[in-house]
Amino acid sequence: MKKHFDPATAIQKLEQFGEFGGVNPSITDSATFTFMTEEEMIKTFHGESEGCFLYSRHWNPTNRYLSEALAAMEGTELAWVTGSGMAAITTTILQLCNAGDHIITSITTYGGTYAFLANYLKKFNIEVTFVNITDLESIKRAIRPNTRLLYTESMTNPMLQISNIPELAKITREHDMKLVVDNTFTPMIFSPAQLGADIVVYSMTKFINGKNDAVAGAICASREFIDAISNVNDGTAMLLGPVLDPLRSSNILKNLATLHIRMQKHSENAMYMAKKFKEIGLKHIYPGLPDHPQHELMKQLMNPDFGFGGMIAIDLDTAERAAPFMELMQQKGVGYHAVSLGYFKTLFSNSGKSTSSEVPAELQREMGLSPGLVRFSVGLDHDIERSYRLVEDTLRELKYI
Ligand SMILES: *Cc1c(COP(=O)(O)O)cnc(C)c1O
Repeated sequence: MKKHFDPATAIQKLEQFGEFGGVNPSITDSATFTFMTEEEMIKTFHGESEGCFLYSRHWNPTNRYLSEALAAMEGTELAWVTGSGMAAITTTILQLCNAGDHIITSITTYGGTYAFLANYLKKFNIEVTFVNITDLESIKRAIRPNTRLLYTESMTNPMLQISNIPELAKITREHDMKLVVDNTFTPMIFSPAQLGADIVVYSMTKFINGKNDAVAGAICASREFIDAISNVNDGTAMLLGPVLDPLRSSNILKNLATLHIRMQKHSENAMYMAKKFKEIGLKHIYPGLPDHPQHELMKQLMNPDFGFGGMIAIDLDTAERAAPFMELMQQKGVGYHAVSLGYFKTLFSNSGKSTSSEVPAELQREMGLSPGLVRFSVGLDHDIERSYRLVEDTLRELKYI
């Protein structure tokens, strides 16, 4: 494990110029590319030509700039950018697994990921075992001869458990499996590849872009894996075609440059809110507080300087109590009653009824997801004390405190 990995400086150090010396790289708004010689085109199709682009479903120069910046942030050799987070996740899993293989995954993941693993992969006769990712013994017990990969989120949705990536990596290395980590909740805070993950996937829709104006994703991995997914003959990305539009890549690259400052502010504001929730005796989950079961683990694994993240969950026991709370908070101007996260406004939703509604009620209970769980993505509010007071006013008005 490298000490003091600094993802923000890795991005800051990049020098990517535009065609005419522009300080922002040029946007290559082309689907196809010309070749001076037939020989060069043939070589490019065989993957033997460095620096040549053939078609934007395969590679595009603007996507390349963003990919290089993401690879710098993760300390991986390369990255590939997709049209959504789900595209990054499904491309990675379909590339790694053949029909009849087996996957082990954290039971608490993003709802779409859960649905893909639990429902969609049946088409390919791929079996999936769901485990409590903090219980390493249960993972070891689940391993079969055909287990190809272990899937988790560095900070799981919506329970905010912390995955012990170095320990998980030990298990996957011993058994010739790949460790795939979704780092959507904690860019810069965790550097999963530095901790032993083979592949890091992102929904860039959230913190990385941070503007809620686009859906996008990324796969950060070795050059070998990125070459494999973009191989013209059998690459999952090349053949299923989930590529990101280069105009969007250009926007996201510019937003990536301020990610470190945004993460610091999200974390600072979330810490303030979490402390207040604790003070008033509300049931809460925030990995930045010592009462979180993996608080010490998080301190060991996280990069310094970016805080404990912008996500908090509170438990109001029932969906019937959560509903008026969220509606009234929106009326008072705390933020928006919306799914998603990583926005400059605070966003809140009832996980069991929204982003985890794909998970059957029985399983929600098993993973400890309360029907009254309200997930907050704390915004970049300059006056967080005021924003918190509005939340507290809401709680009092409803007589919850
Ligand atoms: C939103 C999200 C996804 C899916 O990403 P999209 O960009 O919506 O496709 C995957 N994982 C996590 C943790 C997410 O929050």
